[in-house]
Amino acid sequence: KGIVIAIDGPSGSGKSSTAKGVAKARELRYLDTGAMYRALTWWMLDNGVDVDDAAAVAANVERPVITMGTDPSAPTVAVDGRDVAAEIRGKDVTTNVSAVSAVPEARALLVRTQREIIEAARNESAGIVVEGRDITTVVAPQAPVKLFLTASAEARAQRRSKEVRTGDIAATQADLARRDMLDSSRSHSPLTQTADATELDTTGLNLDEVVALVVKLADE
Ligand code: C5P
Repeated sequence: KGIVIAIDGPSGSGKSSTAKGVAKARELRYLDTGAMYRALTWWMLDNGVDVDDAAAVAANVERPVITMGTDPSAPTVAVDGRDVAAEIRGKDVTTNVSAVSAVPEARALLVRTQREIIEAARNESAGIVVEGRDITTVVAPQAPVKLFLTASAEARAQRRSKEVRTGDIAATQADLARRDMLDSSRSHSPLTQTADATELDTTGLNLDEVVALVVKLADE
């Protein structure tokens, strides 16, 4: 059966680029679980569900069909057959995703789907790299390779503002801090660093260096 590499960390720690890079280098599948929470959030907003009403979110979690393409060179995310890759990176979704991801019913459903995707990849390919906030703790605690990526608040804000092409690094840093606070303090599966995950501080490293380190760990 294929390998599972689980990667957690806060926003901007380099999870997505690292996970994709490792998946390409080792010819593994790639799953961005943050994109699934974003896709669910996009559907809630598009359908007029008040995302601050946890009961309303819970009542609707089963309605959208979220489909993930796990090729690391061209990952895809669709809701009810519609490609929402661009929409889920918008400000509306980014502002509201923490509220949706704090709802236990939303997490239960997406964790179940994530485990199915992982099992399919393990059966059909060399394995999968999965990144998110609760992969090492909840989704795949048995993964043989578990990593917790960190980076300084400044480095994370700088990377994120490049991604979203804004020059306003201070505002980006404030938004990341707000999301980290919400993600780390929610009562259900908060972002936590566990002792059995290897911590990797990516602050002074470039992407190739981080990917090489992770590939080395996976080979051990
Ligand atoms: O990784 P990304 O920034 O796209 O994640 C968006 C949001 O989805 C996070 O801020 C968090 O609230 C939620 N999330 C989560 N659990 C995961 C992945 C993402 O709660 N495994």
